[in-house]
Amino acid sequence: MALVVCSECGKEISDKALTCIGCGAPIGTSDSEKNIVATRSSFDQKSEAFNGTKQLMARLAVQAVVDVGWRVDSADEASGLVSFTTGMTWGSFSGVSGTIVISEMTTGKFSVTGAGKQNVRGGQMIAPNLFNEANKKVAKVIEQMKLIASRS
Ligand SMILES: [Zn+2]
Repeated sequence: MALVVCSECGKEISDKALTCIGCGAPIGTSDSEKNIVATRSSFDQKSEAFNGTKQLMARLAVQAVVDVGWRVDSADEASGLVSFTTGMTWGSFSGVSGTIVISEMTTGKFSVTGAGKQNVRGGQMIAPNLFNEANKKVAKVIEQMKLIASRS
């Protein structure tokens, strides 16, 4: 196991980690590591399946969230769950929390699904999936995963 230095807080962490244990910043999103994920993973449009390993899939999801500019909250390669939060921007009362769910169908083949929910400033009670915005954000991350996996 090699150690890498977190570019955000400077803490030494395992290069196998998906996010920094000190500050939560995603690890493995440098250009060279992005190339590794892009070349070792692939997406098969016919079967709608991602090919690779579970660790690669988790890294792919983390990179996709970072690419679209949102925050990775947690990434767990064992359970295949990657959670993220979009920002609350001016003019919008809400952000979205999403979870990407990676499940292995057969060895080396993965299906990626997800679920989203709306976060509301001030705790107002509204429909949990207002205008389907939350699920659209999840779909955007999955689309980005397909884009990265299709590069090689
Ligand atoms: Zn850190």
